Amino acid sequence: MMRPVTADLLIEGGTIVAFDGKEHRQLEGGYVAIAGDEIVGLGKSFVGEAKRRIDARGRIVIPGQISTHAHIGAHEGPRLLIDAGRRDFIRSSFLHFLPTRRDGGPGFMAPQDARASLRYGFATLLRHGVTTVLAFAPAGPRDGELMLEVAAEFGIRLVWAPVVAGGRYWLEGDGRVVRELDDAAGRKSLEAAARFVEAHRGALDGRLSGVIALDEYYVSSPALRREAKQVARALGVPFTLHFVEQHREFFETMVATGQTPVQCLAEEEVLDEGTILAHCVYIASHGAVAYPLEDDIAILGASKVNVAHSPVAFARRGLALESFSRYRRAGVNVALGTDTYPLDMFSEMRMASLMNKLADNNHEEAPAADVFAASNLAGAQALGRPDLGRIAPGAKADLVIVDPRALAFGINPDPIRALVHLATPDMIDTVIVAGRALVEGKRLLVADEDEILDAAQRSSHAVWQGHAAHDLLGRSVAERFPPALRAWTE
Ligand SMILES: [Zn+2]
Repeated sequence: MMRPVTADLLIEGGTIVAFDGKEHRQLEGGYVAIAGDEIVGLGKSFVGEAKRRIDARGRIVIPGQISTHAHIGAHEGPRLLIDAGRRDFIRSSFLHFLPTRRDGGPGFMAPQDARASLRYGFATLLRHGVTTVLAFAPAGPRDGELMLEVAAEFGIRLVWAPVVAGGRYWLEGDGRVVRELDDAAGRKSLEAAARFVEAHRGALDGRLSGVIALDEYYVSSPALRREAKQVARALGVPFTLHFVEQHREFFETMVATGQTPVQCLAEEEVLDEGTILAHCVYIASHGAVAYPLEDDIAILGASKVNVAHSPVAFARRGLALESFSRYRRAGVNVALGTDTYPLDMFSEMRMASLMNKLADNNHEEAPAADVFAASNLAGAQALGRPDLGRIAPGAKADLVIVDPRALAFGINPDPIRALVHLATPDMIDTVIVAGRALVEGKRLLVADEDEILDAAQRSSHAVWQGHAAHDLLGRSVAERFPPALRAWTE
């Protein structure tokens, strides 16, 4: 006999992706009961009282999605980069708008409205069904206060501490971009990050948790990486860093050390189940590296490390991870990240599947169940959070209700395959974080979307207008990144 439950919220009917303790199962016409910020009941028929009910008939109820790698904002810079970018950065030309000018000229992002950009990013994530996000961002002008304020406003679950930077890039007067390591600055920012983690434990009603996020492998010393990992371990939080997302990282490391970057990280005792490697594309076996003399993938797999895979950003650069399923078979926990705009996990799932099928010339690779689990269970594993990414009693009440009644989605025999290959974020009706509905009826409840869009537009145009002042040759955005079509003339 089932014990009667008193629920604050009951979701009834529809297709529920229910976790049975080992894997996701498809539960038709069941219920999910929520009390406080937790799921307290799940099954076929509900016995008890509910203060509020949501009718999910005809809908798909999925776990809140976990983005293990995101830059939360309007992406004012990356939006200029489709079909374009610096050729000397070989498929990773994002860097050219970031560097500070050595001559002291204005920074490209200086005209950005940081609050407007952040609010746009958080709004997009939530409306797109991401309920937990690991963010890479510096502290900002007020030691992280702005990030905390905006995260509080939106109610999302945030994994963050100010980024640790082991050096920086400079834009030289002759147009070159050079990197300079700075261990002292790195150590200082590591101490600041650790202080932030300690000072904000349990903040935002428990929705904030800490991380040690080292900006880049390529801009950090072995000593700093080793130390940062030790600090993360001592604090009991994940450690993450951008890793071999640039072609040059592999070869420059090989030339300097005689080892692959993966071998270096192993030697630095950075690789384990508490580390999230953002991207991890250029390893020895990758086709564009073509270095068959070392078995990086075996080292990664044996360490049980996590990879935050963001296929959309890399497909735009003409590049794929090789491959999602090869990494998984080796033992790597491959989670997903919404690295670039539109901060949409459905696009990431779909691209993860398609790019894997292309990379391995095999249509059976990266099946829907695997890329779907990468968007929730694998993310939870990467963050060390067995209470997230699943619909199960005792888990946090983070859920997304998708309304697939749309011509684009159509009629499908398998809701999860259809979700992976056809769903778009505008089909998301309801987003619940910690038991609280933040999106309902396809609208954000916690902020005004029109106001957010208008402010993001102002921020983006200000950045783009400032391009000529930042550019050494004084070029406008249109001169630097010619429009796809020439303007109409009369
Ligand atoms: Zn990134």
